[in-house]
Amino acid sequence: MRTEFLPFSRPAITEGDIAAVSEVLRSGWITTGEKTAQFEARFAEYVGCARAIALGSATGGMHLALRALGIGPGHEVITPSMTWVSTVNLIVLCGATPVFADIDPDTLMVTSEAMERCISPRTRLMVPVHFAGAALALGALYDLAAHHNIPVVEDAAHALGTHSEGNRVGGQGTSIFSFHPIKNITTGEGGMFCTDDEALAARINRLKFHGLGVDAYDRKTQGRAPQAQVVEPGFKYNMTDMAAALGVGQLARVDGLNEKRAELAEVYLQRLSGVDEVFPLSVSPATTRHAWHLFVVRIDTDRAKMSRDAFMERLKERNIGTGLHFRAVHLQKYYREVMGTERGMLPHTEWNSDRICSLPLFPDMTVEDVEDVVAAVKDVLSH
Ligand SMILES: *Cc1c(COP(=O)(O)O)cnc(C)c1O
Repeated sequence: MRTEFLPFSRPAITEGDIAAVSEVLRSGWITTGEKTAQFEARFAEYVGCARAIALGSATGGMHLALRALGIGPGHEVITPSMTWVSTVNLIVLCGATPVFADIDPDTLMVTSEAMERCISPRTRLMVPVHFAGAALALGALYDLAAHHNIPVVEDAAHALGTHSEGNRVGGQGTSIFSFHPIKNITTGEGGMFCTDDEALAARINRLKFHGLGVDAYDRKTQGRAPQAQVVEPGFKYNMTDMAAALGVGQLARVDGLNEKRAELAEVYLQRLSGVDEVFPLSVSPATTRHAWHLFVVRIDTDRAKMSRDAFMERLKERNIGTGLHFRAVHLQKYYREVMGTERGMLPHTEWNSDRICSLPLFPDMTVEDVEDVVAAVKDVLSH
């Protein structure tokens, strides 16, 4: 058994990253400034979008998107329940109604057929989620959206470096990335709003900083233009230069980091192929490049004769950390009590919500670490 605890994720921070942040700290300008502008430019170039706007989190980006699209009472937003809670919370906080589309049981992603069944005259937005580093089939989704004239915001928190049907995620339409410490690159906390819609970008840029229509930084004044005025009330979701300095370095390494994830995932797939009680997700056919954000398995709870929670607990006793991405949003306390959502509404989501578990996967892991995880999994299942 491992003597040292293996977390399920750990950010890949180099001495160069530390030096870059230190340099910002010594520079006299630590909030939104030149580093943020550089990170935005390089990110836009990497994903191939017209405009990239750096933010304090992806959650903040979703808030701004809902606001900019005028989502409010009487409106419906279609999204999966198999997602992080932030999107659904914000839909509710905007006064709108989330409508949950069920997922494909083996990729955990919504299909355009499931999205279509949720469309009503009140639908104002669709928020599909790229899952675990694999890709949604965007062609069919955008066709559906165009046919019904409904905007799409892709939740690309798991999909930095992912290609869908030959195109890099983020390169078309509107998408939001996250730089939370477990994501493929990190800025501590952070997010990026990407779009090819210039008018939307201008609105998001304004809303992210008090509605002033300027950044925190103006090159000419070496600070915020003091004469700036509120164009519309906005929020405070700008990224700091300390975070952006980390992002610039991380982004330059993202392909190598993802490569490492892919190699480790391959080892997992080989070593777990003979373990009948756990089965990994299948990779959607749309995924022409996988970013391997997470390595998710499902526990066959009948065969294993234990619950997923017990499985996670027993791995922890063996010094193996795990994650849960995600517990279905519609089964969480608030949504059950206030929206009246219940079991039976979304069979594929619920089946997976009870059985999924994310095994450790991060670029600085070794093949030996993967073998330790697999050995612990087999031991827990008493092979
Ligand atoms: C992490 C995550 C988010 C939120 O990102 P933050 O930067 O933490 O706000 C949103 N959606 C999904 C699917 C995520 O995994």
